[in-house]
Amino acid sequence: MSRDPRYDILFESVKIGPVTARNRFFQVAHCNGMGWTQPQALAELRGVKAEGGWAVVTTEEVEIHPSGDCEPYHEGRLWSDDDIPALALMADAVHAHGSLAAIEIMHHGPSAANRGTREIPLGPSHRPVTALDPVQARRMDKEDIKTLRQWHRDAALRAKRAGFDIVYVYAAHELGIPMHFLSRRMNDRADEYGGSLENRARLLRELIEDTKDAVGATCGVAVRFAVDQLLGDDGITSAGEGHDVIAMLAELPDLWDVNISAWANDSQTSRFAKEGFQEDYTRFVKSVTTKPVVGVGRYTSPDKMVSLVKSGALDFIGAARPSIADPFLPKKIEEGRIEDIRECIGCNMCVTSDFTMTNLRCTQNPTMGEEWRRGWHPERISKAAEAEKILIVGAGPAGLEAALTCARAGHEVHLAEATTELGGRVTRESRLPSLAEWARVRDWRMGQINKLSNLSVYKDSKLTAEDVIGFGADHVAIATGAHWRRDGIGRNHWRDIPGLPEMNVLTPDDLMAGATIEGPVAIYDDDHFYLGGILAEFCVKKGVKVTLITPELRPSAYSVNTLEATRIARHLASLGIEVLSQTLLSRCITGALQLVHAITDQKSEFPCRTLVLVTARLPHDKLFEELQGEISSVHRIGDCNSPSTIQAAVYAGHKFARELETGKPSTYYPRELPKAAALRRFW
Ligand code: ADP
Ligand code: SF4
Repeated sequence: MSRDPRYDILFESVKIGPVTARNRFFQVAHCNGMGWTQPQALAELRGVKAEGGWAVVTTEEVEIHPSGDCEPYHEGRLWSDDDIPALALMADAVHAHGSLAAIEIMHHGPSAANRGTREIPLGPSHRPVTALDPVQARRMDKEDIKTLRQWHRDAALRAKRAGFDIVYVYAAHELGIPMHFLSRRMNDRADEYGGSLENRARLLRELIEDTKDAVGATCGVAVRFAVDQLLGDDGITSAGEGHDVIAMLAELPDLWDVNISAWANDSQTSRFAKEGFQEDYTRFVKSVTTKPVVGVGRYTSPDKMVSLVKSGALDFIGAARPSIADPFLPKKIEEGRIEDIRECIGCNMCVTSDFTMTNLRCTQNPTMGEEWRRGWHPERISKAAEAEKILIVGAGPAGLEAALTCARAGHEVHLAEATTELGGRVTRESRLPSLAEWARVRDWRMGQINKLSNLSVYKDSKLTAEDVIGFGADHVAIATGAHWRRDGIGRNHWRDIPGLPEMNVLTPDDLMAGATIEGPVAIYDDDHFYLGGILAEFCVKKGVKVTLITPELRPSAYSVNTLEATRIARHLASLGIEVLSQTLLSRCITGALQLVHAITDQKSEFPCRTLVLVTARLPHDKLFEELQGEISSVHRIGDCNSPSTIQAAVYAGHKFARELETGKPSTYYPRELPKAAALRRFW
């Protein structure tokens, strides 16, 4: 297939100072949980992006000095020459596919407590660091500023030696130190670096000038700048100082990469923001500079991308999450395969890997973060030596992914689903308020499955053990999912909650199946991810009074890791949903719940008609157990194996198929071990 001429404009080359990007697809910086700890894995990951057609592929934040150390998070490091080879791996991997490698060098300033290096944090003013650590940043004196500029310059030169084509000056996300200087809230200086906007922007200007001077002859110099902090008059706004900073420095860098701040605003989930949500803030930028502009907004639609360029909103389509969900997005547009694009669903499971310091993972793309250690490629799977007959039972995210990947490997695949609809929990959950985009997990897989002739799908086919045995498959994967418990057992309850028969108890499955809801409703959330909060919203929209009770400090507490926790709490409050936090459910009595405060042990009675238990799940593993010993190759995958996230189910489905390919489980994989030379002195 060839490209639709409507999209030609996306494949025009664009100059960024002395270098030229071959098209308008720009993978902006994104964290990955690996950083300096896994350079080979990261190089492979970034190389795949370049192979997939992103003309510019950027690192994550790369620290320039131990005094801006965000340990224990895994970002990049360019503290000394010793760091050059690791970063050069990435630049080489990107160049191998004809793309430009960009590096976001930065100093965290007061955003880092320097937990690892124990250096004194630095900032524009004497202020506590932004983390909760009982540590303050010291106000930088003139000598400190001079030294910081030297560190930045040295890092730029090292970046050039590592082979990077574009070097950033970073003032975004409330993280890069020039952002702290720019911010009136953070900068109370009375010298030439404080006070007027011109003074507060001085450090940013100097860093741009230094970088241009150091590497500008051969490297493009980019600035990442947050034009709006969504703080109104307390912060930078796109109608105020955000505009004025760009106007003031308009022609200084070779490229403006603009977004909104902080990270929780920049990477909003689909629950709270739709494609293009930053456009209103960043649209002005091109009117005040002639330099190319890159912007983000979880763009996955090529028509939208064309309209952004044609309307003069952006020169480059910036993407972090869309490039994670589909590293081959540009290539697919180029090859006229729009329907093959695996669109990001905006769930932010990728962000959790940064917060948990683990390899990048993605709900839509199970190969993400596994390119090097497991050798998984997002688009390629080797053909099976011999086509075997595979039966997958259950068409939820695990079953769909397993079936698709087995079929891509050339097997004869049969996918049986008990109900008349495909997608399992993804289909059910995507009908809940604001989760509609999650259906993309099902829709993309079904789109791919429908193209394959070696994959048969049987709906309305609830299989028994006899059915499975009679089918005579070489390999069987049981992907029958899980159900929510009705007994209250969960994180904080190791045995049944007493008195449940006294109460009208519903589970999330009941609500999603359309159970009648009688208010007032109490949702007891001992699961702590998104579902408790979403179901509270679901019930309130049915017109009943809802209270969310949680043993945790805040509703949907795990959502801190998807950047959503504050937004969720605010949203629940705006819907009139009362939240009782640090509260345990000790017993049900007729018409009421007996509650106990987790800290004070204070007891209270809470009247309600319906109790919704969002606690834990039990796998549907009966079929698997019946088949064990009856057929030689039977496996359980996804929630049927161990209830977890949709991301984990997709991954499990993919892993099953890959392991069939290799014939062995991939529990052992290469690791990036510390250099032996560095360990020798401890022998
Ligand atoms: P996962 O997240 O692991 O993919 P889901 O609960 O989303 O799990 O999906 C499991 C799917 O399996 C559901 O669509 C369910 O209807 C289907 N299923 C359960 N038992 C059977 C069975 N015996 N035969 C066929 N399909 C089944
Ligand atoms: Fe998008 Fe979710 Fe994948 Fe992140 S994890 S890239 S938000 S689909």
